[in-house]
Amino acid sequence: MLNEHTKTDGLPDTMPDMPRALDRAPPRNERMASDKVECNACPVLCQIGRGRTGACDRYANADGVLIRVDPVIVLQKTLVTAPDQVVPFVARAADEESSDGTGSALVPSGAKQDEYFITGVGASTTYPDYKPAPFIVASKADGVDMVTVVTEGIFSYCSFKVKIDTDRWLGPEQANVRCKGEVVGHVSTAEYGSQMLSLGGVHHLTGGSKKEGRVTVEMMRALGNKEAVEVTIDGGAQLTIQAGKPPIVNGVEEQRMRVGCGSATIGIFARQFFGCADEVIVVDDHITGVLTEHQAGRCLDMPAAGIKIRGRKSTPGRYFQVANPGTGWGGTDIADPLSIIEACEAGVAWPGLKLLMVSTTGEHSGWYVLDDQLVPQPQPMPEEVKHVVARIGENCEPSLTTVLFLGGAGGSLRAGVTDNPVLLTRAIKQSVVNVTCGGAPAYVWPGGGITVMVDVSRMPDKSFGTVPTPAIVAPIEFSLPLADYERLGGHMGHVRTISDTLAHGAWHNDGAPQARIDVQPMPANVWPLGQAPLLG
Ligand code: SF4
Repeated sequence: MLNEHTKTDGLPDTMPDMPRALDRAPPRNERMASDKVECNACPVLCQIGRGRTGACDRYANADGVLIRVDPVIVLQKTLVTAPDQVVPFVARAADEESSDGTGSALVPSGAKQDEYFITGVGASTTYPDYKPAPFIVASKADGVDMVTVVTEGIFSYCSFKVKIDTDRWLGPEQANVRCKGEVVGHVSTAEYGSQMLSLGGVHHLTGGSKKEGRVTVEMMRALGNKEAVEVTIDGGAQLTIQAGKPPIVNGVEEQRMRVGCGSATIGIFARQFFGCADEVIVVDDHITGVLTEHQAGRCLDMPAAGIKIRGRKSTPGRYFQVANPGTGWGGTDIADPLSIIEACEAGVAWPGLKLLMVSTTGEHSGWYVLDDQLVPQPQPMPEEVKHVVARIGENCEPSLTTVLFLGGAGGSLRAGVTDNPVLLTRAIKQSVVNVTCGGAPAYVWPGGGITVMVDVSRMPDKSFGTVPTPAIVAPIEFSLPLADYERLGGHMGHVRTISDTLAHGAWHNDGAPQARIDVQPMPANVWPLGQAPLLG
């Protein structure tokens, strides 16, 4: 029955029949009502009444048959404008579904089947994992017979690394991050121009209270699905974060990522400041720069201006800790820039000295001239100085929130790929296997296990789900040459062509209504079978 669908050039002529009955039929709970079906896609083992969904809303009882309710997402290759990429997402109207209900009519007749890639989004799971993955799909890439093993992984060990482009202080490193009052992560090490959060993770999912686990998994699902999430940082800011959108800090949408630290800003714009101002102080929570003391001012032969600022001097013209961190000028807590000036040195500074004070984004700036008592007095900013301040702003990139999913795939889901899982791990490390998540390129961390990291913005919408254990459900695909798949002990009896897969759904789907298959091309990702593995 199976084999007439599965023949393809690179597959063996004789493939063993799949052990369908054994693999599909879990031991039935004898006390379960006759109109219920038991879902065995995760350890919760929901008993689902007719017309109802299970606890995760991903499976349902359709007339006594267990179905996966979301469509499988299939990527389509671009053919004309960018041959090696996948084309942008398009909205698919419901009435485009095929008349026979299989959904496979969404794939145009006559289209080459190697133009399609089945992702793990909506693919379902074959728990427990000793059963082969739901889709093991044969295809060709550059004339080579390939296989892609596709599943929805259930991840207990997983988290989201969130990069927030802002110089505003969000909270102390290691501070708890809360969602709906529950601790769901912490502030991590700040990076250049960005604050970092580590959210989710096994300790919050399963190591705390039930409520902490529930809130954490829901927060993670929303973040992975590019939805807005509100969090607060203990002793810090209140944030709204959403992948690909500007962060909102204490109710204010962030606009600009700083051009660099205060010292870098001095270095970049020193020649443009030269001739306009006698002194420039770039206020920054990290390094505040003072032009005439800085090496850049010295190289331009600028005379010392004698303006002493607070803070701890690092090297000439570079000062740490001029103020406390905050959401004011340059990520400090100051509203009045003159508050960081300790003194204007008599005999060095002079009446009429022109002073520019500016933040690292150019959002804050002030122009001052020293009076006869060497006190800075605010004055209207000359046009040429405004131009340089505007240039600082122009060089700032838009402030964004970037969300990376980090998941451990080195556990039992490997058994859905091969009988000997360590061979899969080794093959990934040897770049024989390319790992993708929803077709998006996944970076594989060095060292042991299969720890993958992927930018959720590159993944199809609604790629993430949850199960109440609690854990995150995320798509994962392993692509490799067919010959290597056989060599590493792959489930060769379950390899099927893409046309058979599109026509019949997952191998364990016998008897179920055909799942709808949506063809949803993706933006700006290299075709998954043409990607070089992103190995650490
Ligand atoms: S939680 Fe979802 S996947 Fe798990 S048994 Fe219930 S319906 Fe199935």
